[in-house]
Amino acid sequence: MQFKKSEKLYNQGLVNLVGAVNSPVRAFASVGGNPLFIKKAKGSKIIDVDNNEYVDLVLSYGPMILGHRHKKVQKAIKKSLKNGYTFGASTENEIILAKIVCDAFPGMDKVRFVSSGTEAVLSALRLARAFTGHDKIIKFAGCYHGHSDALLVAAGSGLATLSIPGSKGVPNDAVKNTLIAEYNNLASVQKHIDENKDIAAIIIEPVGGNMGVVIPQNNFLKELKSLCETNGILLIADEVMTGFRSKFGGAQELFDVQADITCLGKVIGGGFPVGAYGARNEIMEMVSPLGAMYQAGTLSGNPIAMASGIATLTELKKQDPYAEFNSNAEKIEGFLLYSAKKYNVDLTVNRFGSMINPFFTNEVVTDFTLAQTSDTEKFGIFFWEMIHNGVFLPPSQFEAWFLSSALSDEDMSIVEIAIEKAMEKVSGI
Ligand SMILES: *Cc1c(COP(=O)(O)O)cnc(C)c1O
Repeated sequence: MQFKKSEKLYNQGLVNLVGAVNSPVRAFASVGGNPLFIKKAKGSKIIDVDNNEYVDLVLSYGPMILGHRHKKVQKAIKKSLKNGYTFGASTENEIILAKIVCDAFPGMDKVRFVSSGTEAVLSALRLARAFTGHDKIIKFAGCYHGHSDALLVAAGSGLATLSIPGSKGVPNDAVKNTLIAEYNNLASVQKHIDENKDIAAIIIEPVGGNMGVVIPQNNFLKELKSLCETNGILLIADEVMTGFRSKFGGAQELFDVQADITCLGKVIGGGFPVGAYGARNEIMEMVSPLGAMYQAGTLSGNPIAMASGIATLTELKKQDPYAEFNSNAEKIEGFLLYSAKKYNVDLTVNRFGSMINPFFTNEVVTDFTLAQTSDTEKFGIFFWEMIHNGVFLPPSQFEAWFLSSALSDEDMSIVEIAIEKAMEKVSGI
């Protein structure tokens, strides 16, 4: 397998782009080597500029849940393109997508569309603060909620549990109202509540996806919700990754918990830039123009993005691929554990619906600290061997692999063979 053209583009890209990427997760910093440049994708497959073909388990970090260029989505986009690209005024498709989203999430009476997950979450925080009149928020170590200042604390970095900015350029003042708790640890939340009277919201990824996949244990989400109710705090479910992915109604449907505010993104745009936040009427009526919380966007509710979102969610509902996602993820877990045992490699696999990933550790991974026990050097070797055997994975130990409904039995065999070879390579170091 050759990467000559990718390497050439990478070197050209370094001149006028930062690290030749427009998002740091696309850099190959933690696995070594240079990033691949992509030419095109179709269905379950993605093809790089050197014409290497891979089974795509990145799916643009989640959005391409139906696989790439699904016929119906493509048709809807083409149709919408004919009418113009953006108008700075409302269109019917915004109402249609809003209804699909609100029907799927019973906690949402109204929704506001924005252009990214980051924007959805930072707006949701502002809304929680506007509604409660309180400033403080609790987030969990290892949860990522986009790159807004107040949330760049313990956002999957090594700075867990301290309220220290996870990035240069974030003023201490911007994170002084951000309290960090431990995932799956109710006592760590209770402690903050005991010590602080003015908490507006608790924000959580209801299933962790940005520290690798981490699943809420026992009744963690339900208990959080009841803590919130008792203390007049809003629960914000950041379902930017999990919304429509694990179940049509997201993790909230699966765990039977209703958040006060829900954030969405990724899948709802079907590959175009869309984010959303929503809540019951009482809360959403705070948002401008109905209320005094300001939030706006030139391209919010963009017609092409709405058309793509409607077509994606409509097809997703029709396909109802969630049982198949589960069985494919279970198979991949089986391949991983079988080959780890065969080659005597320490491995833990976490999965949730169509999100799955291995950790190279003996520990049961239930929080960020335990996720960090994974041997990332082994992951780097595993990653490259998967690439060489035709499987495209996120270039980081701490990202979930995603499944699409376009995955065929043949693709699954490619994944199985690649895993076995990659594990053998890992065992050799
Ligand atoms: C991806 C993600 C975000 C950020 O969304 P962007 O569209 O990248 O801004 C926020 N929260 C979660 C849980 C995510 O997975």
